[in-house]
Amino acid sequence: MQFTEEHDLFRKTVRDLVEREINPYADEWESTGMFPAHEVFGKFGALGILGVEYDPAFGGGGADHRFTVIFGEEIGRAATQGVAMALSVQTDMATPSLHRYGTDELKHRYLAPALRGEMVASIAVTEPDAGSDVAGIATTARRDGDEWVINGAKLYITNGTQADWLCLLARTSDEGGYRGMSQILFPTSTPGFSVARKLDKLGNRSSDTAELSFVDARVPVANTIGEIGRGFQQQMSQFQAERLIANYITIGHTQLALERTADYLRERQAFGKPLLSQQYIQFKLAELEAEIDLLRHYNYAAAEVVMAGEDATRFATIGKLTAGRLVRKVADTCLQFHGGIGYMEEHWTARYFRDTRLLSIGGGADEVMLQVLARSSGLVP
Ligand SMILES: Cc1cc2nc3c(=O)[nH]c(=O)nc-3n(C[C@H](O)[C@H](O)[C@H](O)COP(=O)(O)OP(=O)(O)OC[C@H]3O[C@@H](n4cnc5c(N)ncnc54)[C@H](O)[C@@H]3O)c2cc1C
Repeated sequence: MQFTEEHDLFRKTVRDLVEREINPYADEWESTGMFPAHEVFGKFGALGILGVEYDPAFGGGGADHRFTVIFGEEIGRAATQGVAMALSVQTDMATPSLHRYGTDELKHRYLAPALRGEMVASIAVTEPDAGSDVAGIATTARRDGDEWVINGAKLYITNGTQADWLCLLARTSDEGGYRGMSQILFPTSTPGFSVARKLDKLGNRSSDTAELSFVDARVPVANTIGEIGRGFQQQMSQFQAERLIANYITIGHTQLALERTADYLRERQAFGKPLLSQQYIQFKLAELEAEIDLLRHYNYAAAEVVMAGEDATRFATIGKLTAGRLVRKVADTCLQFHGGIGYMEEHWTARYFRDTRLLSIGGGADEVMLQVLARSSGLVP
């Protein structure tokens, strides 16, 4: 994949913004368990960095997918992965369906302010009794005239305590299984909606994660995103954007973690010489660097598929499985080579170890990626 000067400039803009508007506050947000999403998104939105590929008519950048790759790689370098995750929810997890299937009216009212960073968005799929098995969701939207009456609960929702609207997946008929679901633009100011609790997490602590409750919450049927009854299929498609951005983000932080670890080991003396002069350490880091490089170029191949307008499901899936496994190795190795300081909360390695564990679970667990691959490889009888 070729990058132009314009891409390079964009990379520098995002990198500077991360260094200026996220990194200095990372420790504070980690300890409070929250970052000010409206304020931070507003700064990204003001520079046109949210929704780089979206239609300029709704405030998007109208750019090619390479800008999304760069956006992901650069927010991945943030000192707290919680904010990178929250940003990517806004740009690539909660908004793709709205952009692709939503009415112009919905896009003007909700997508445009989200891209300016004035509104915070969440994707609300997972429930207390259904995560990997999306076809098992139970939240209902019963039609009453021109309104949906929504009842149920959503769990582990990123940006959930700060969101202005949700891309909500709910059952709009009794057909069961993957049939009869719809995606609904749900404003969180709607009576009957509440944040049941803010969740305490192992990692990504700067990002707020919530359980949400819906009791007879009414929204117009006109808030349906796309086709009534096609919510499951639309969400499966939206998941591809979610997995791709996660794979791009992975490149940013794994590369940075290796660079920082090599810098430390260049200085750290043991047995009369820098630890980096141990061939074992050199080989371990070189091996990981090679794996990161493979994923980077696999991501670029995936991006080419997206730019050609083809289905990138297999690429997104293989990339996500690979990324989830790779970050666990990178985080573990970087911590190991730091010794005792690596285990200290004051050092970046501890946070990194905690933050990266999520990737093999969120957005489709490793086993779900394998299930998708087994199906696409014709291995399921
Ligand atoms: C920090 C965080 C943020 C999140 N943000 C959001 C969000 O913004 N919006 C949202 O909708 N959801 C969100 N999620 C939910 C996330 O996508 C789910 O946790 C994930 O899909 C797994 O679902 P589950 O937790 O119900 O696990 P389960 O479905 O109960 O699965 C448990 C485990 O079983 C294994 N497993 C699952 N399926 C199979 C299989 N077919 N074969 C073999 N093994 C299998 C896997 O190891 C899996 O981890 C978030 C989760 C976390 C932790």
